[in-house]
Amino acid sequence: MKIPEIMNKRMSFSFEVFPPKEDKGVKSLASALDRLYECEPDFISCTCGAGGSNEGRYFEILKMLKDANRCTPLAHFTCIGQTRESVRNKVDRLKEIGITHILALRGDLPEGWDDTRGDFSHANELVSFIKAEYGDDFVVAMAAAPEKHIEAVSFEADIAHLRMKQDAGADFIMTQLCYDIDAYLRWLEMIRAAGITIPVDVGVMPVINKDATLKMTLSTNGCSIPRELAELISRWYNDPDGFRKAGKEYSAKLIQEYINCGIDGLHIYTLNKSNDVRDILRMAGVHAPRKKRPAAVEE
Ligand code: FAD
Repeated sequence: MKIPEIMNKRMSFSFEVFPPKEDKGVKSLASALDRLYECEPDFISCTCGAGGSNEGRYFEILKMLKDANRCTPLAHFTCIGQTRESVRNKVDRLKEIGITHILALRGDLPEGWDDTRGDFSHANELVSFIKAEYGDDFVVAMAAAPEKHIEAVSFEADIAHLRMKQDAGADFIMTQLCYDIDAYLRWLEMIRAAGITIPVDVGVMPVINKDATLKMTLSTNGCSIPRELAELISRWYNDPDGFRKAGKEYSAKLIQEYINCGIDGLHIYTLNKSNDVRDILRMAGVHAPRKKRPAAVEE
């Protein structure tokens, strides 16, 4: 079943992984995926590096997900450095692997770049292109930032651009991390008022590691850190184990609160850490993996 169809019936549940650079990382991702499959996700998405970096591994991981046949694989796809021809070549390759779901993104601009240096300046153009070239072969998701994209001059302007992506044919939204649920709800009201009707998959970045939390919130995304999370960071600033324990509890509570809001989809950015993610899901009561395994060592 296509992901938006699931989301129209019940909350979808999914994970994000990234393609490791080293062989060792691929092996441990394969084991992490085995543990994640046990949580029975509807789909698992695979990120892509800016400008096609680490491209070989990207296709390898997507093929691994497809061949495992445990859930739908979804391919992130950016405009960075892409020509029409290169998009065609890569999307053809995804089609050959059997991928049917794509997240069409502009991509994070590499340092020193002020545009995508390609044929597509913004994600709406990529959505239009994929829909025009491939019709119904692909379900196309689009990204959105509930606290406003960092480059947008206003919420109104940002939401108008989201509307352009829906009008270009995007089938559902995948959100940037957002620890402030009130901000998410205000944004949801605004996009619905602007005629954006497609389902919204809420992205949750588990709070497991202090540096990763600070990097993901502040380095590129400009996401706010609510008081409760700020206190947690301060309290466990120099204690990684204490931080991890408190962070998992915080993450489980956040997930429960999002679910209580009646969200269309829950998407966990796993950072390839399956054991911590499974602990958090168990604590949040989202899914108890059926098969019990001894705790595995993560990379
Ligand atoms: P766009 O929709 O193009 O928007 C970017 C900015 O331009 C916004 O400020 C918007 O308001 C404005 N804008 C949009 N359209 C127009 C227009 N037509 N004219 C003028 N202005 C416009 N990055 C990666 O590199 N790899 C990944 O795998 C990846 N995965 C992600 C997964 C999720 C769920 C999310 C939310 C983000 C992900 N990103 C990834 C980050 C994403 O690429 C960045 O947030 C990027 O800065 C914006 O991407 P976008 O698709 O929202 O861009």
